Amino acid sequence: MAVRRLRLGVGRALGVPATRKRGSRVYSTSQAFGEVLGLPSRQFTKLVFPLQELSRHLAPDSGHNLHLRIFDPSLEDLARADHLFTTTARHRIEYVSSAVRLDHAPDLLRPEVCFIGRSNVGKSSLIKALFSLAPEVEVRVSKKPGHTRKMNFFKVGKHFTVVDMPGYGYRAPKDFVDMVEAYLKERRNLIRTFLLVDSVVGINKNDNIAIEMCEEFALPYVMVLTKIDKSSKGHLLKQVLSIQKFVDTQTQGCFPQLFPVSAVTYSGIHLLKCFIASITGSLKAEDSRQN
Ligand code: GDP
Repeated sequence: MAVRRLRLGVGRALGVPATRKRGSRVYSTSQAFGEVLGLPSRQFTKLVFPLQELSRHLAPDSGHNLHLRIFDPSLEDLARADHLFTTTARHRIEYVSSAVRLDHAPDLLRPEVCFIGRSNVGKSSLIKALFSLAPEVEVRVSKKPGHTRKMNFFKVGKHFTVVDMPGYGYRAPKDFVDMVEAYLKERRNLIRTFLLVDSVVGINKNDNIAIEMCEEFALPYVMVLTKIDKSSKGHLLKQVLSIQKFVDTQTQGCFPQLFPVSAVTYSGIHLLKCFIASITGSLKAEDSRQN
């Protein structure tokens, strides 16, 4: 959907209120997304498409190319994805188990996505934000030095699994690196890896190790820029442009579009949910579930 149409006012541009008719049936978006749709258009764009909002500050002739809309979902798909991340009586989002070794990982056949990133990058906050409409899901965090860090598996209905990988860092023990490496290399149903980078800091040494791992194993991966609420627009734009340049020139397997997010303002969270729903093939299934 063109940006200009959104600027006219979301509801007016689409001609639909938060609850829409599809054929003779009433199609209800989740209440949360209904609230998003009620936002003034500028705030809506900032919340749902933060990269696009940021690009407004680039001169048209700047020569920079932020890939804003490679993934360009409809509002209906955004709402469907929100619904998919909501627990209902017949669709449960739940913690399955944790594992320290790949051979202890649950044997799940559904598509899987994983989140990796250095300690403190904002991974648990992001996963909590993704599951904010399923508040009963406990996102476990084990950060105390000396505690075993685990891979945590979460089931999203019958559709897909989300895996929270332990954070790596300067002192990451070898067995931990082995665990992540083995998982990334061998997990058959892993369809996408989300690599988190702190937007305040940019790509650092530890991130480079993870990037090299993804590249070496020829994994399709996506860069998610966390904590975008923390920087000034100028600093954020500078970081985003530099990361975009890196992705465009130094990577093979990274999806060209960046996903900036904030677990505080929820900027970018709806788009990320929709992207996950789309790559796991869950949007169509969600459509038939609602009809
Ligand atoms: P993890 O170690 O990667 O799981 O990181 P956490 O999710 O625990 O976050 C590390 C720190 O960053 C915590 O103090 C969080 O409150 C903070 N944080 C995480 N995400 C955000 C965000 O989007 N915005 C801001 N301002 N702070 C964040």
